[in-house]
Amino acid sequence: MLVDSHCHLNYKGLAEQQGEVLERARARGVTAMLNIATRESEWDDVLAAAEANEDVWASVGIHPHDADHHPDVDTAKLVERAAHPRVIGIGETGLDYYYDKSDRGRQQDSFRRHIHASQQTGLPIIVHTRDAEQDTLALLGEEMGRTAFPGVIHCFTASDDFARKALDLGLYISISGIVTFKNAADLQATAKWLRGDRLLIETDSPFLAPVPHRGKTGEPAFVADTLAFLAALRGEEEDALAATTSANFYALFNKAAVTSSAP
Ligand SMILES: [Zn+2]
Ligand SMILES: [Zn+2]
Repeated sequence: MLVDSHCHLNYKGLAEQQGEVLERARARGVTAMLNIATRESEWDDVLAAAEANEDVWASVGIHPHDADHHPDVDTAKLVERAAHPRVIGIGETGLDYYYDKSDRGRQQDSFRRHIHASQQTGLPIIVHTRDAEQDTLALLGEEMGRTAFPGVIHCFTASDDFARKALDLGLYISISGIVTFKNAADLQATAKWLRGDRLLIETDSPFLAPVPHRGKTGEPAFVADTLAFLAALRGEEEDALAATTSANFYALFNKAAVTSSAP
């Protein structure tokens, strides 16, 4: 049992061969995938994939890159779509000051709307953060002070200090294939000490194919390679780490646990 907690099955590269992609993932033991939305125009397709496949779940949200183009996606709209039985999370949302593809103020507004949707629905928020550690923590902390909400920092690449503070806020941390890269010494050091009960694993496919698939289109099947690397790094058995990260997934995204027969 192995879960890919973050993939984009409707992105170019995977959408054209979604059936085969899902079969290859199943063949490597992947039992659940969370198909992440990034733009409103994708929502219907992301949901359709989750409706058509028992092992695919969906999120609704707007990526920080696309905040500028979605001024009308407010909390009410997110809450309304999140009522769909296959939607188990809100996002991905957050702040990306590395690419700065959307205005920072608009990214923050959008991030807050997603958090409010999480507070209202109880569904976890899926946080993307890059070169924006301070503002991300400040915003999460401020909102958490109002009403606590569950969530995950996805594709974690931030500092140890950020990891500790995110854990203090009760958040989970998800490790992607980046951890297998040669130049990822800092992330590897963090991934070694992260507490096991808050750890998730993801591909963020079609991006970030892990070693030994670097340069290829990423796909959920490769979560098995990242798992193997992470288990060796942490000195754990692969089966045990797969079981832990799967249990963590269902503990966080508990709408999936309630809806399916999963533990
Ligand atoms: Zn992201
Ligand atoms: Zn993503």
